[in-house]
Amino acid sequence: MLKIRNIDAFYGNIHALKNISMDIEKGEIISLIGANGAGKSTTLMTICGVVPARGGEITFEGTAINNMATDKIVALGINQVPEGRHIFPYLTVMENLDMGAFLRSDARGIKQDMDYIFTLFPRLAERRNQAGGTLSGGEQQMLAISRAIMTRPRLLLLDEPSLGLAPIVTRQIFEIIKKINQENKTTIFLVEQNANLALHISDRGYVMETGSITMTDTGRNLLANEDVKKAYLGI
Ligand code: ATP
Repeated sequence: MLKIRNIDAFYGNIHALKNISMDIEKGEIISLIGANGAGKSTTLMTICGVVPARGGEITFEGTAINNMATDKIVALGINQVPEGRHIFPYLTVMENLDMGAFLRSDARGIKQDMDYIFTLFPRLAERRNQAGGTLSGGEQQMLAISRAIMTRPRLLLLDEPSLGLAPIVTRQIFEIIKKINQENKTTIFLVEQNANLALHISDRGYVMETGSITMTDTGRNLLANEDVKKAYLGI
């Protein structure tokens, strides 16, 4: 579904991505794990066209998307939930969801997707008229994921969904990520510091160190790998 081939990315003189190549197959959950500053968020932003990709090529379902404008990439079916969520704090839950449906005109489909979101996240249904900024961190993460679902992405990019959340809330969010993947056949690319949880729900994973991909395997094999255990699982 998504092929990344030999991509570099820079912030001024900082060489943030060094010749990275990755593949994401339709229907998978893929995790990208690594330490702070390894280049995980940059990878997602490069896919979305927010950070320019140098060299190489990124293709989504056969279409080259490197150097394409972000709105065009979203229209093709990719959506990102950024680190820190970035919901609209003064808009209500419903209005935040409406913003996700901004490019759509299929009123019936929009209503269906909202109903689906409210069954996935009953807390959001209860708070549908509450301002986004007054929600808890976990509820804001649910809202950010839901707003992305309103664009009907075929590939959903999630950047650190567990950031700042209590362990019990993190587990709930991960269960729902798995459900979204299974029920909607949404392909998911997950960037996470919580490698243990991420690899447990992932078909495959990539390990990134200082801008390079250093390892890739199934989620199960990475969980059992001694180097991964030592470096990322604290075992
Ligand atoms: P984290 O988990 O801390 O978000 P990460 O793996 O997502 O880390 P990136 O945020 O992609 O890592 O950062 C990769 C490198 O690029 C780091 O050296 C970082 O300091 C640098 N970097 C990231 N954003 C910028 C920016 N806007 N300007 C300059 N350098 C940046």
